[in-house]
Amino acid sequence: MLKDKFGRDIHDLRVSVTDRCNFSCVYCKSADPKNYFPHRDLLSWDEFLRVARVLVGMGIRKVRVTGGEPLLREGIVDFIRRLRQLPGLEDLAITTNGYLLPEMAKDLAAAGAPRVTVSLDSTDPVKFARITRTPRSFEKVMAGVDAALAAGLSPVKVNIVLVRGFNDDEIVEFARLARRRDIVVRFIEFMPLDADHHWNRDLVVTAKEIVDAINPVYPLVEVPRNTASETALRYRFADGQGEIGIIAPVSIPFCGQCSRLRLTADGKIRTCLFSLHEHDVRHLTRNGATDADLERFFAQTVSHKEPGHRINESDFEQPSRTMVYIGG
Ligand code: SAM
Repeated sequence: MLKDKFGRDIHDLRVSVTDRCNFSCVYCKSADPKNYFPHRDLLSWDEFLRVARVLVGMGIRKVRVTGGEPLLREGIVDFIRRLRQLPGLEDLAITTNGYLLPEMAKDLAAAGAPRVTVSLDSTDPVKFARITRTPRSFEKVMAGVDAALAAGLSPVKVNIVLVRGFNDDEIVEFARLARRRDIVVRFIEFMPLDADHHWNRDLVVTAKEIVDAINPVYPLVEVPRNTASETALRYRFADGQGEIGIIAPVSIPFCGQCSRLRLTADGKIRTCLFSLHEHDVRHLTRNGATDADLERFFAQTVSHKEPGHRINESDFEQPSRTMVYIGG
């Protein structure tokens, strides 16, 4: 029902439920809680739910809950349970750093969370602690992956942002992880959404480089995408043992198939990760807007969706928000 002016059906919503994070990844944000929004600026659970309900009524079929670190916000399990009950919502997923999964996986599963994606940027505990700037983070995240699998939150996907010179020497090791464990490993190209504006094209490890690194060791066979709007290129290992994905927004942009809207923790709708303009739904929800008003607002917002992200254009402008404030 929600269609933009380029004819793209909009049926995915990413909801960032908090801007707080218990990691401080070197490429994502500067470790500085003074940048956090005051609590009153964050949408309440009821406000998130209302926005989601209206959008699901307009054709959103999939919601991914993210952050910041979504599992940090008190009340997340109950929110998942309530989201799950929205009529018309077909798919619900959570993106987490996994640190709190050992304690929370069972409750999330009981609340109806069907699957989780865990971010893990190194297979080396020392390097991972350096990237996340959090001691013993690797051990906790791996325990989180185990807890998710044990709780039946499957498929468990593991996302790796590759940054040249940081972790590109681990591509084959990550492929090995995908073969050893019952998880889908997905490599993500580094995007210009870093706090320190250190991104440059040379730091991006491209989809081709990833395939070229894995293929000689573990031959890959490309698998057709499940849906046209799926972000990942999929490959299975030729011997049938596991699968990897590659999300390549820089070298192989997929904007033409984009089906996403994003809702930030402070109640702004973003029509693209790289939007320079946001649409304030919090102001409406806190000033008496009816559901019909919200519907009109969302229809109008979607009509402003950008044709593409422009990362590869010479006049590309990096948005002021970083990933932790947008929701990955
Ligand atoms: N805390 C959760 C997590 O760690 O998955 C959710 C939020 S985090 C911002 C979502 C994802 O965005 C993570 O996989 C993270 O690695 C990724 N990310 C952050 N900055 C990025 C960048 N500049 N380019 C590509 N991915 C990035």
